Amino acid sequence: MTNKLKYFVANWKMFGKLSSLKNVHEIKRFLSLKKKISNKSKIILCIPNTLIYLFKKKINSHLISWGAQNCHYQEKYGPYTGSVSSYMLKNVGAEYVILGHSENRLEGETDSIIKKKIESSINQNLKIIFCIGETLNEKINRKTLFVIKRQILSSIDRKFNMNKIIIAYEPIWSIGTGKIPQVAELKKIFRFIKNEFKKNFKTKKSPTVLYGGSVNSKNIENFSGISDIGGFLIGGASQSPKKFIDIIENYYK
Ligand code: PEP
Repeated sequence: MTNKLKYFVANWKMFGKLSSLKNVHEIKRFLSLKKKISNKSKIILCIPNTLIYLFKKKINSHLISWGAQNCHYQEKYGPYTGSVSSYMLKNVGAEYVILGHSENRLEGETDSIIKKKIESSINQNLKIIFCIGETLNEKINRKTLFVIKRQILSSIDRKFNMNKIIIAYEPIWSIGTGKIPQVAELKKIFRFIKNEFKKNFKTKKSPTVLYGGSVNSKNIENFSGISDIGGFLIGGASQSPKKFIDIIENYYK
């Protein structure tokens, strides 16, 4: 395992209420006690928009960064009932935003909409956690590399500031199913993503690439031999502080 900083990003999805603050206190307590772990990890909690302002104010810790889970493509304001812009997220204290999550793609979000969202979020100085990944059918038909290349090239523009973009490889067939890819498969995909960035965007430094999909405290050890992994995007298991903490702790065992 390298000594590079590893990301542990929680995606609470549509879960969480004011009383969930106690969960964040537990995570903070753990990080404060385990200096060795917190020095090596970047913890980002992507929580519902309704909680960002208050939780950030109450927790106020350098150990935890805050993120949202989506935004509208219009940068500031507009007649978009129920939507929230990158400007509004920044205003309540978000530092990160997850974009292109498969659950939003399923609701009709296209590559070109995602591109506009990435652009507006970069303009608002948010860091982007950009999700890519193939369906089970695409995997069976050996289309994985083709699909993730298309997702990257149609949503990321050469003019974007690449330092603001983190990639999360999340095979759709793995999200919430308990199934994870084989290590050899992941190594190949991570290398491919990094090379595509070097090739197409002329970046000196390849982007941080996270893995997401059914990560839990038992399977986390499978990932420790993959040097290209920059960390993890954790959905279901991140809603419980114990499960989230166990994942981080077990990764460094
Ligand atoms: C996700 O929704 O981003 C995710 C990784 O979910 P899960 O960990 O529940 O598979």
